[in-house]
Amino acid sequence: MIEFRNVSKVYNNGTEALHNINLKVEKGEFVFIVGASGAGKSTLLKAVLGEVKHSGNLAYVDAKGERTGNPLIGYVPQHLNFDITMPITVLDLFNVCLSNEPTWLNVSKNIKTKVSELLIKVKAEHLINRKLGALSGGELQRVLLALALQPVPDLLLLDEPVSGIDKNGLDLFYNIVSDLRMKHDLSIILVSHDFNLVSKYADRVILLNKTIVANDSPQVVFAS
Ligand code: ADP
Repeated sequence: MIEFRNVSKVYNNGTEALHNINLKVEKGEFVFIVGASGAGKSTLLKAVLGEVKHSGNLAYVDAKGERTGNPLIGYVPQHLNFDITMPITVLDLFNVCLSNEPTWLNVSKNIKTKVSELLIKVKAEHLINRKLGALSGGELQRVLLALALQPVPDLLLLDEPVSGIDKNGLDLFYNIVSDLRMKHDLSIILVSHDFNLVSKYADRVILLNKTIVANDSPQVVFAS
């Protein structure tokens, strides 16, 4: 379980992005974070990733309530900034990320098999030789998800793109994430902008506005 204890964040320019966040996410839970633009959703994920310094504590606790070491975290960002004209394929990207030694053009048979297996998990095996810049928003998101699954993390953080993915693409993505959760007993924190999908997939919804405004089942949060 991950526990936020009085987590707050004030940026250097004085903007208070998070105020006294107290929150628990259990193993195997699929928790959605919703909130207006500027509500602190990305800052919350960055705090877990260790990318922003914050006050308060993040604790990882086992089933007996004892603190454990840091978990393995997988992260799918909202955007990936790259030059879309770059002649890099999906396989090249994985090759660079998975190889233990400096490598570029030579892809070993082992890596190729591993990449195929990872892409199958996210229904993207047909994209292996596709150029990164030629992927649709939904395809790129699934490829990044496959990358976040190597190795299989304890905690998966997903920052849903605000635009660029159609409804079917999002539904497919959430379906895959939902299956992965069941299969690997993953804890998942997902920042979402699509309330219909939140209702369909979430165990719990956190409504954030710097502080936690609501924290309950989708039915209760959306009725409030
Ligand atoms: P959300 O993801 O919900 O849109 P963010 O976490 O990105 O919200 O931002 C929360 C608040 O913190 C916003 O007011 C934003 O302008 C501010 N903020 C985010 N990043 C920085 C930064 N690096 N420096 C200063 N202010 C920031």
